Amino acid sequence: MDTKVLLSEKELPTAWYNIQADMPRLPKPPLHPATGQPVVPEDLAPIFPMGLIKQEVARERWVRIPEEVLAIYRLWRPTPLIRALRLEKALDTPAHIYYKYEGVSPAGSHKLNTAVPQAYYNKQAGIKRLATETGAGQWGSALAMACNFFGLGCTVYMVKVSYQQKPYRRIIMEVFGARVLASPSDQTRSGRAILAGDPDSPGSLGIAISEAVEDAATHTDTNYSLGSVLNHVLLHQTVVGLESKLQMEKAGEYPDVVVGCVGGGSNYAGFCFPFLQDRLAGKTKARFVAVEPTACPTLTRGLHTYDFGDVAGLTPLLYMYTLGKDFIPPAIHAGGLRYHGDAPLLCQLVADGFIEAKACGQPEVFEAAIRFARAEAIVPAPESAHAIKCVIDEALQAREAGEARIILFNLSGHGHFDLSAYDAYLSGKIQDYALPEEELQRSLMRLRKAE
Ligand SMILES: *Cc1c(COP(=O)(O)O)cnc(C)c1O
Repeated sequence: MDTKVLLSEKELPTAWYNIQADMPRLPKPPLHPATGQPVVPEDLAPIFPMGLIKQEVARERWVRIPEEVLAIYRLWRPTPLIRALRLEKALDTPAHIYYKYEGVSPAGSHKLNTAVPQAYYNKQAGIKRLATETGAGQWGSALAMACNFFGLGCTVYMVKVSYQQKPYRRIIMEVFGARVLASPSDQTRSGRAILAGDPDSPGSLGIAISEAVEDAATHTDTNYSLGSVLNHVLLHQTVVGLESKLQMEKAGEYPDVVVGCVGGGSNYAGFCFPFLQDRLAGKTKARFVAVEPTACPTLTRGLHTYDFGDVAGLTPLLYMYTLGKDFIPPAIHAGGLRYHGDAPLLCQLVADGFIEAKACGQPEVFEAAIRFARAEAIVPAPESAHAIKCVIDEALQAREAGEARIILFNLSGHGHFDLSAYDAYLSGKIQDYALPEEELQRSLMRLRKAE
């Protein structure tokens, strides 16, 4: 059989799917950081364009994708859906394993799916520059490309350890015209405050967000852009799941289990929500599994409560599973999975029992990544490899049970810029890190005090 299920350009979705129309319970609303009252659209206007704010609170099921965005999506979309026949064989499993491959985007991951519409709506609103944060550099490079498409300036606050250790992503951002600053920087009040306390601070995503939000809030021609977590980001990512659904239909199968990795939750939400629509409508009993690292176990060990999205407390309070805004996760190689919180929509679906959460350790994740690479000839991003570890477990369980389980996962990006992580694994330098209970409790205690 043909292992690649392709779609024609004509089959590219023309609307994003908004799961808010179908959820039995919506998450509690975001709160204003100063007043503690639910945020109204005008509160967000200093840093987001109205086009995106409207999508943040939209309740209609389908949101039309602008033609200008589709035109850019067509550079790499629709992406392939691939049956991992060689992996199935290597595992000697009766399970069918399919993956959606988002690594074919010019940025190498799913992140361009939202970077492009975000740049588009900001351009439409007359904005001249976008400010953002980036951890390992994946989001920064996607936004730099998107800003380049629409002639916008782009300033990226890059977590300092990554800035020092991962020059290639910085260079990509600069190729596309972005200005990249190591965060904490001396360009913002929040950055200077951190540096005053610790001149050698390695930085964190939460600190970098504070810097980018402050930059946007203090410049009228500049807006802020976030690569995950928020409703509009998840909405844009549903092109991934919508295409996958059509492709599975072409393959003549429906998944029994839908797997993805979770950092802020956007790739997995965008991938699984169109299938979850069927589950919410009672049309399928498919299982949904979200996979995170044991080092940053937000969904599996965090608290479902209000917390800030950043360290300085400038963002609205979001109702989500969180490890506490001051939590600084260890420097594991899956940099995209080190956020202290998760998307409120995804968290609500976990809390309501529609999505299961699972955590995996670093060595087992890299072992799975190597196994996958050797069978399927794609080097996965370490983030995506968390999903692969879970998929291999599912396939082996299916073998034990003699069950033709149909497993579908999102391969959110390739790992070509993460080869140093593979090098570390191959030379035995990657260690397991399960967050110690005391450390977790210390962070959650601070969070409870703030409640
Ligand atoms: C950023 C990133 C992730 C994690 O972010 P989500 O918002 O959870 O999707 C996962 N995979 C890759 C390849 C990434 O770049």
